[in-house]
This record gives sequence, structure tokens and C-alpha cells, in this order.
Amino acid sequence: MTEDAPPGTRSGASSARSEAIYQELILDHYRSPRNRSVLEDADVVVTHRNPLCGDELVVYLALDGDKIREARFTGQGCAISQAAASMLTGALNGGTVDDARAILACYSSMMHGDASSIDDPSLGELRALAGVARLPARVKCALLPADAFSRALDEFEER
Ligand code: ZN
Repeated sequence: MTEDAPPGTRSGASSARSEAIYQELILDHYRSPRNRSVLEDADVVVTHRNPLCGDELVVYLALDGDKIREARFTGQGCAISQAAASMLTGALNGGTVDDARAILACYSSMMHGDASSIDDPSLGELRALAGVARLPARVKCALLPADAFSRALDEFEER
């Protein structure tokens, strides 16, 4: 597919292009993860595993009132789980608990194939993972960090 694609195939060409950009972004987060370190003064720490893939993730949250002061993670796993964790910490950092809940819900529905979620600007770089929704075996990898952060918010609010 090229720039000269006839009308009607253009959207296919541009989605192939953005797919390539998204792949790059996922690999970049995998190779140089953001916010990947132990958070010593975390308010909540949650460990989640995906036995199907061998992914293991520890997520850390530190809060000031209802504001997320810091979201971090450690652990190991496939490129998708690691990139998703890295992107998620970026999306959650500095927002409120309500913001975080909304982002996690939107991300989860995108992973379950809801196309309208992909346009939600609050997802930011997480939109790069939209294509994973078409790979049923990998959806669990992409949702692992989201489930872990959801659990962390639950634990924080139950206290
Ligand atoms: Zn995985």
C-alpha cells in the first residue's frame, strides 16, 4: 500500500501506517519502560500474574487524598504486558482516583473490542494497544496491569 492508493483503499493504507507507528511505540515502552521501579512509600502494592504467558507484575500507588501522586510497576513479562504497564502508569500519574477509574474502564472496553473507546483522548498512548483486542490470546497480557491497578484502587478505597 502506498500514498497513491486509489480512493476507497486510503483508509486501509493509513491504518497500516498508524499500526506501524503503534508497533514502534509499544516496542519503545517495552525497551525503555517508564515508571518501572519499586516505590518505597507506596500506599498500596498489588501483585498480579498471567500464568498463560508467564507475565508477573507488581504495581505501586502512592496517593495524596484522592490524587495519584505516583503510579509505578516492576516485574517481567511479554512486550505487551510491559508496554501496557508503562503506558498505564503514564496515564494514571497525577490524576485523581476518579480519572484513573475512567481511564481503566475505557481501556478495558477498548480491549473488549468497543471501537468507540479508541477515540477517547484520556487513553493517550494506550490507544497504541487497540490492535491487541484482535488477538484474543494477548488481551489478558494487555489487561494484566489494568486489573492490577483496579485492584490497587479497590484496596486503597476499602481502607
Ligand atoms: Zn503476556
